[in-house]
Amino acid sequence: MTSHIERLCLEKGLKMTEQRRVIARVLSESDDHPDVEQVYQRASRIDPRISIATVYRTVKLFEEADILERHDFGEGRARYEGAPKEHHDHLIDVRSGKVIEFRNDEIERLQREVAAALGYRLVGHRLELYGVPIDEADEADETPEATHRKQAGQKAEARPPAGAKRSGGP
Ligand SMILES: [Zn+2]
Repeated sequence: MTSHIERLCLEKGLKMTEQRRVIARVLSESDDHPDVEQVYQRASRIDPRISIATVYRTVKLFEEADILERHDFGEGRARYEGAPKEHHDHLIDVRSGKVIEFRNDEIERLQREVAAALGYRLVGHRLELYGVPIDEADEADETPEATHRKQAGQKAEARPPAGAKRSGGP
């Protein structure tokens, strides 16, 4: 069966070797934004002859052909996903590295407004939110001082600050 990413490769006229097809299949089946090491581990389970160097080269090739999107989630390693059909943004759990995809029309609209106010028509953006699960954040904050702070300013801490957005890109 031809995987989604392999089909994109063929559409772009990339020459598909057996190993490239395996890597394309692994990337098509991964929805967790894997890094090269993870792609390598999954690909070598299918074909043990695949080397990490091949995975590096292939991922780079796919990225340059706009088949893959590369992300830097602040961990010092690139992570990849198939170029999404529908735009979405990411929330990164900084404890586990888990990535949650979301889309918020209000944020999309605000970004267009900000660009327009600066005299620009928005053609793209990247938005990454970094967080810890709320329960865990509470547990991590159980020092006597923190409890004191909580009692003193519970209301202020219960809500995330309104300006907790970060945006970059073009
Ligand atoms: Zn994504």
